[in-house]
Amino acid sequence: MDFPTDCIFCKIANKKTGTEIVYKGKGIVAFRDINPIAPVHILIVPKRHIESVNDLTERDASLVGRMVIAAKDIAKELNIAEDGYKLLFRTGKHGGQEVNHIHLHLIGGAALHEEIRPLNVDWK
Ligand code: 5GP
Ligand code: ZN
Repeated sequence: MDFPTDCIFCKIANKKTGTEIVYKGKGIVAFRDINPIAPVHILIVPKRHIESVNDLTERDASLVGRMVIAAKDIAKELNIAEDGYKLLFRTGKHGGQEVNHIHLHLIGGAALHEEIRPLNVDWK
């Protein structure tokens, strides 16, 4: 499969690195975040290179649906479903997206901070 050679998540999804794949679904893989912010921090990633939520189209609807279902299944498998977790798509500069290959964060395993407010507290 062709993919941008400089995209780390394309490389991981196409098994060009040693990163352990913890889940495989149709067109989707998941792996542990290299720099976890919680006891459970998994990234759910489509194999196809899509830069961000901004680049999704109607034809991606089932893929994105499967990413969310995968997150739910992984949460159940890791026994964090009942206590709960966060699912996060960072998008673009303001969203803090650092890797430009769309990914869904599954974050949990502990009670999570509420903080999602703007950096600039004077926005009001
Ligand atoms: P973003 O800020 O783009 O939403 O999140 C990117 C995430 O990917 C970060 O949490 C970062 O720790 C993780 N990450 C970046 N490079 C790698 C990598 O090479 N391997 C893994 N497993 N995670 C990575
Ligand atoms: Zn990519």
